[in-house]
Amino acid sequence: MSESTTKKQIQANRQWPLLAALVCATVLVAALLFSSHQTANGAELKPNAKRAYDYLLQVCKIGPRVSGTPGMAAQQKLIQDHFVKFGAQVKYQAFDHPHPNTGRPIRLANMVISWNPQATERVLLGCHYDTRPFPDRDRFNPRGRFIGANDGASGVALFMEMAHHMKDLKPRYGVDMVIFDAEELVYNDERDKYFIGSEHFSKDYVNNPTRHRYICGLVLDMIGDRNLEIFQERNSLTKYAPQVTKSLWATAARLRVREFIATPKHAVNDDHVPLNEIAGIPTANVIDFDYPYWHTQQDIPLNCSGESLAKVALVTLVWLEEMPRMPVPLRPRRQ
Ligand SMILES: [Zn+2]
Repeated sequence: MSESTTKKQIQANRQWPLLAALVCATVLVAALLFSSHQTANGAELKPNAKRAYDYLLQVCKIGPRVSGTPGMAAQQKLIQDHFVKFGAQVKYQAFDHPHPNTGRPIRLANMVISWNPQATERVLLGCHYDTRPFPDRDRFNPRGRFIGANDGASGVALFMEMAHHMKDLKPRYGVDMVIFDAEELVYNDERDKYFIGSEHFSKDYVNNPTRHRYICGLVLDMIGDRNLEIFQERNSLTKYAPQVTKSLWATAARLRVREFIATPKHAVNDDHVPLNEIAGIPTANVIDFDYPYWHTQQDIPLNCSGESLAKVALVTLVWLEEMPRMPVPLRPRRQ
């Protein structure tokens, strides 16, 4: 052993604890910061917060997107162009429905964006893309202009960001992003129906059986707000989709996405109700129901954040890839 080697060795021995401490610190910081994830393909999954927020801005820039209006048509074009670019299959499920005010038929449409459309066992990811006609809960101007940055645009922006990562995933099941129309075509809260789009979709699913079956689903709504806190929705957890709910929150915990809080809080009526009750698809509602600007004129991009969208995108993507095998639900009775 030469002298120089010995010196080097001593130096290396001294550096070792420092190096180890550095590695530990780096790992810790990486885990504490918003994390990325390695997929089965070995690709790095890291949803882009800025890009997701840009999508939310693009959607909101259209203005109100009330069902059956030119704003909705502009949004449909934006969505279609986006997903076709990523190689997804985009279909419209169009149908007529009487306008709540005039009774005259208007054209509504759910959009179905399919990834790996050949797969006969599929997971449904739902959101709604219509905005409420008025910000009814606004203290100052309940008949003002409603943009729906969180309540409307956030789900669309989430799916648009997720499109960038679908090619890196190898999910167990095929994935359909179903964007529902007329979740709240509500001019008069006492008179008008909610969930028209998801109800139509659910009835069609049972009345016109397809080759594919939905194993389970998520309905994501109001997931873009700045102070994101997603508690478990009570009915999803206890009645409709306990396994789905628990597995999603478990994925979030593993990824250290602390905005998913594994405690039940609100019972919410949302598009998951017809999917569970009519279509028999165990579907969990993923919603931050503590958003202070709900149905007000302050539901604007400024009160939303790209980081929130990116976190929900990460949890959903990893969940899709890692989800356990689930039983095929029984086909419910025709309506
Ligand atoms: Zn709403």
